[in-house]
Amino acid sequence: MKRYTQLQDIQADLREGKLSCQDLVRHYLQRIEDSRHLNIYIEVFEQEALAKAAELDRQLQQGEKTPGRLFGAVVSIKDVLCYKDHKVTAASKILEGFESLFSATAIERLLAEDAIIIGRVNCDQFGMGSDNGNSHYGQTFNAADPERVPGGSSGGSAASVQAETCLASLGTDTGGSVRQPAAFCGLVGMKPTYGRISRYGLLAYASSFDQIGTLTNGVEDAALLLEIMAGPDGFDATASQRAVDPYSELAPLDRPLKIAYFDSAFGHPQLEPSVKQLSMDFMDRLKKDGHELEAVPFELLDYIIPAYYVLTTAEASSNLSRYDGIRFGYRHPEANNLMEAYQKSRTEGFSAEVKRRIMLGTFVLSSGYYDAYYTKAQKVRRLIYERTQSILNEFDCILMPAAPGVAWKVGEKSNDPVEMYLADVFTVQANMAGIPAICIPIGKGREDLPVGIQIMGKAFGEKDILQLARQYYNPSQSA
Ligand code: GLN
Repeated sequence: MKRYTQLQDIQADLREGKLSCQDLVRHYLQRIEDSRHLNIYIEVFEQEALAKAAELDRQLQQGEKTPGRLFGAVVSIKDVLCYKDHKVTAASKILEGFESLFSATAIERLLAEDAIIIGRVNCDQFGMGSDNGNSHYGQTFNAADPERVPGGSSGGSAASVQAETCLASLGTDTGGSVRQPAAFCGLVGMKPTYGRISRYGLLAYASSFDQIGTLTNGVEDAALLLEIMAGPDGFDATASQRAVDPYSELAPLDRPLKIAYFDSAFGHPQLEPSVKQLSMDFMDRLKKDGHELEAVPFELLDYIIPAYYVLTTAEASSNLSRYDGIRFGYRHPEANNLMEAYQKSRTEGFSAEVKRRIMLGTFVLSSGYYDAYYTKAQKVRRLIYERTQSILNEFDCILMPAAPGVAWKVGEKSNDPVEMYLADVFTVQANMAGIPAICIPIGKGREDLPVGIQIMGKAFGEKDILQLARQYYNPSQSA
């Protein structure tokens, strides 16, 4: 079957009868089979996806109803999103066997537009990690080089699109988990403004940072999925009431943009030469097209990671306290009393990395240390937020590397959690400030591995960064 990279082409062929939803689903199921060695899926909804495809084909043939806007979109979902009557585990043992009682709002909205969900994909446990090595279900591998990681935490999401097992995937981004895997796998990764998409039905990691995002081949599909999922939701008070822009109506830019970048980022000692070179080339293209690029000082870069890991672990220690071995999922079989049930279930149910974060978070929130760590980190967040806002008052967007290097080898950073944390240096700012950011591919770097760049925009300015991204990236041209 021909390789589809965007929904528009699938829908055109469906309408002309050159393709059916069943053909598509069968094709993707075959691709899932062929890519088993990459360990992408935790569960494939094979029969269900086929049945839904058959039903959609029938409806189209009989002209029963107008097809939804996601007709023909086959999507995978990160295993942190609730889908009614389906298992969800956050790639952990502690949620083994747990089934969702309701669907996330984002999922409901996709289904209402006739999307087909083909399965749930691997990720770092509770979204904590940068290379998918922190999963109860084992490592997922990068389809460009199976010795390498796909990034994380939405590594399964990225690999699922990269290996062409579905058209698009939903991931989540707390500190870069959609954008960094997109960069590692050569995809478009979109993290919307905090509050743009409801978090209802997303298993929380750090609630004031978490956002659902998308991994797609192209920008159009990212825009359409965002438009469909975004908007107010009575189930999530942090979901914004602002009207949803018609993101999918992408138009060419009608004026040159003022784009800021930081020397502290593009001159960062950790930035790999091949990534730097491609970024510089990309900036040259922007300049040639008349956009105004300006280096602005940003002296807070080195404070972002420490503040992020204090705040997110604090929130995680509270959020994950609900997994006690009693209410959901796994319960240790040999507990003699309540305390033992808690202890043994949590000890076995969480990975070492999750436990490290729960302990760190509990520590920074404990009396005596609260002001020194948690309050201080909140103040740093405020400074980062304010500085970012003031830059965005002057500029249309900020350009930033997506990751310091290309996808690393499996296991390369597993023994040093701090080194792994530092790899998030460029993605966390957008979550700290709550602004939208999109990662697009800009070429192949060292060892022919994909490299991406990030465009960060004004809060609720998704349309602007999508348009810029669209102008500079088109998957059918780069394929
Ligand atoms: N790598 C970061 C972390 O481990 C980001 C994770 C995410 O965005 N979910 O916290």
